[in-house]
Amino acid sequence: MVDDVIFRDNVVLVPRSLRTDMLNIVHEGHLGIDRCKRRARQVIFWPGMSRDIEMYVKRCAVCRESSNAPTKEPMIPVEIPDLPWFKVGSDLFEYRKKYYLILVHYYSSFVEVKKLENITSQVVIRSMKEIFSRHGIPEILISDNGTQYSSREFKQFSTDWGFTHITSSPNYPQANGKSERAVQTVKSLLIKAYKGNSDFELALLNYRNTPRHGLDSPAQLLWVADYVVNYHCVQNY
Ligand SMILES: [Zn+2]
Repeated sequence: MVDDVIFRDNVVLVPRSLRTDMLNIVHEGHLGIDRCKRRARQVIFWPGMSRDIEMYVKRCAVCRESSNAPTKEPMIPVEIPDLPWFKVGSDLFEYRKKYYLILVHYYSSFVEVKKLENITSQVVIRSMKEIFSRHGIPEILISDNGTQYSSREFKQFSTDWGFTHITSSPNYPQANGKSERAVQTVKSLLIKAYKGNSDFELALLNYRNTPRHGLDSPAQLLWVADYVVNYHCVQNY
């Protein structure tokens, strides 16, 4: 017991009166039964919690409406830990007449999302620069062959900023699959936030903090990649 809070190992034992509140928080962003369970198990516990989560999510109208076509969570190919923000995928999509740019870190699946005024090369490049300024410049950037990415300006950008740009080709159409899956995920968060009249950013935060099958959360993995490289840097001094 710490400060009147009862722990079971490292997780908090939630009293009956607070369980509904916890279910609400765990389901923020409408992440689906499995993800909600994984998220909850990291931090809280009560007898029968999994069953309560299942019932809670099944009763949620927003989730029910969006789950007509049940999507199987794709197999997650295991990437070898690399430098932070080493290999990054990019894609664009449209939702409710707004354009969005996505960057996804291959190793951690950490996603960055940026709303765009338009999808010219210039705007895409400016937004990427903003994101690179936070996470670093990737070694490898993977995208499809959209005009934004195949333009002369973009080629100049990759030369000036010093990253290798690989585009998917007819011979290798799967090359951008990682980004396409990230688009699906983010789009479904946007749709649910819109329908449920809730914050998309909070849903995104939840996604980033939710462990994936047998793996840590994107935020944790991104941090680990950061840690590994910084650790090695320190070792080399
Ligand atoms: Zn829901």
